Amino acid sequence: MSDQVASILKGWGEPDYRLRQVEDARRAGAREWAEVTTLPLSLRERLEEVVPLWSVVPDALAESRDGTLKWRLRTADGLAIESVLISHARGRRTLCVSSQAGCALGCRFCATGAMGPGRDLTAREIADQALLAAAVAREAEARLGNIVFMGMGEPLQNTGAVFDAIREIHAPTGLGLSARSIAVSTAGWVPGIEEMVSFEVPVRLALSLHAADDDTRSALMPINNRWPIANVLAACRRYADRTGRRVFIEYLLLDGVNDSAADARRLASQLRDGRFHVNLIEYNATGGAYRGSPPERVRRFTEELQAAGLHPSFRRSRGADIAAACGQLANTPA
Ligand code: SF4
Repeated sequence: MSDQVASILKGWGEPDYRLRQVEDARRAGAREWAEVTTLPLSLRERLEEVVPLWSVVPDALAESRDGTLKWRLRTADGLAIESVLISHARGRRTLCVSSQAGCALGCRFCATGAMGPGRDLTAREIADQALLAAAVAREAEARLGNIVFMGMGEPLQNTGAVFDAIREIHAPTGLGLSARSIAVSTAGWVPGIEEMVSFEVPVRLALSLHAADDDTRSALMPINNRWPIANVLAACRRYADRTGRRVFIEYLLLDGVNDSAADARRLASQLRDGRFHVNLIEYNATGGAYRGSPPERVRRFTEELQAAGLHPSFRRSRGADIAAACGQLANTPA
């Protein structure tokens, strides 16, 4: 757990089991040092003076009509980040975590991109989003079953911290989530995808593609000027071959921008080798220039993909009424 707490306890000559007691208390949902009652009072008080129990602290919470929860969390240096807990049937929950406090990539449809760059979060700040959400889910007699790196930031620009956080989330002593229950979503940061190829935890990889040709994609996502579609798909194929997992292709349907029948055919022609699964996504307006595709265009697009032998799924927005849906995280008042 907390590397900082670990080194403090070690420096004070405390036995190893003290750290385990702290970890157990955090997993059980203790919010403050005073609640870690397995530690002697004097030790709790000393720790209280030098280090917080959590690296991120909730300072606002919003609940959507569909049960989605969105937290605004503060880091120790005062930055605001967000994480979103989505509820599914039978008490299962999915958490969307942030990996940066902003984003430098400036995708045109994204509220986080409009915020501009923010610092990389530490492994502790990322893993703590997950541990806090797991405790909240347990209190509601639910279970945190999936974690997706689809919140604020480009996770593959911050691979050191993201990989360490995944190791903790995956470890039996952490949350014990299986590799296939964890997904990393990238806008196409190719060096990071290459690093994933040699990462030992074979998590799922999702690519936000959102266009079938380079001109359209570059207009939506400036990163495409650096790594065009062919390059990023080649990196994804290497990941699929290494892990045996299909890569998810995320595709926001934007009215009149990327949703024609010809777009669908072009998309299918690049993804037909069995290494990809297409996930079509309903667009959430973020006050920009784009609108979501109407149902008729969504249907036609889907049929074109199916005619080409693909089996796309369609993801509806969750938490859109509290700005918790994809592309909406920008520290809006919770
Ligand atoms: S979609 Fe992702 S990569 Fe693009 S600006 Fe938003 S947070 Fe950054």
